[in-house]
Amino acid sequence: MTEPIIKFDKVIKRFGDLTVLNELDFEVNPGEKVSIIGPSGSGKSTVLRILMTLVNIDGGMVSVDGEPLWHEKGQDGSLKPASEAHLRAMRMKLGMVFQSFNLFPHMTVLRNITEAPVRVLGLGKKEASMRARELLDLVGLADQADKYPHQLSGGQQQRVGIARALAMRPKILLFDEPTSALDPELVGEVLNVIGGLAEEHDLTMLLVTHEMRFAREISDRVCFFDQGQIREEGTPEELFTDPTEERTREFLKAVI
Ligand code: ADP
Ligand code: MG
Repeated sequence: MTEPIIKFDKVIKRFGDLTVLNELDFEVNPGEKVSIIGPSGSGKSTVLRILMTLVNIDGGMVSVDGEPLWHEKGQDGSLKPASEAHLRAMRMKLGMVFQSFNLFPHMTVLRNITEAPVRVLGLGKKEASMRARELLDLVGLADQADKYPHQLSGGQQQRVGIARALAMRPKILLFDEPTSALDPELVGEVLNVIGGLAEEHDLTMLLVTHEMRFAREISDRVCFFDQGQIREEGTPEELFTDPTEERTREFLKAVI
């Protein structure tokens, strides 16, 4: 049996009085492509932000690649709060693509992609540039390397965002509604790139999306989030054609 590469074990997350994740149990296997769907405010982004260690948790455990994320094992095997070094090492396993692209506006496209590999991985500038150009080619932007983000369309900026995440060679790629900020005619080009990545056997993908048709096409499994819990999950076929929960049915009726 394979160990899950992502594991949430009874995770609790609160913001003040609001319990956003309520003892969430959630697992993703290596190489699996999982889509998360669900109403606004159900905790979908919070799950990704926890994985990126952008927010802390209030209870339970999160493991990535077999190691606890917010804790580390001391010499006697007991768990203690994670050190900065541990968090840094864990973060490197994941890449994230944001709804709002989050490119560095004052850097060229190429520099946006080489910055982290040079600074964080210590890659030489030349090697980082070479790899960045390969990635730009992969996302169909080989001729845009010297442009600045504001000179690109939203769809092109998001494809740079994807190339930038890939440049760190993550095992796990997280997408938080990567096409929600795009004009409708630009959605397809971004989904095409994500769809291409979904064919990579080794890459684990966790995708929060409202693009139901796309989720259905590329996912091994779809999870319906509701009030900080997984209300229902299954293969795309199961979830989209024959949901068992009334809440899932209501949601799908409203969005499809
Ligand atoms: P989703 O991505 O499913 O729309 P989120 O995970 O972003 O939902 O948010 C879940 C709930 O947590 C929402 O009610 C949101 O307002 C609240 N929330 C998220 N982040 C914060 C924060 N930093 N401070 C306070 N409340 C937050
Ligand atoms: Mg969200």
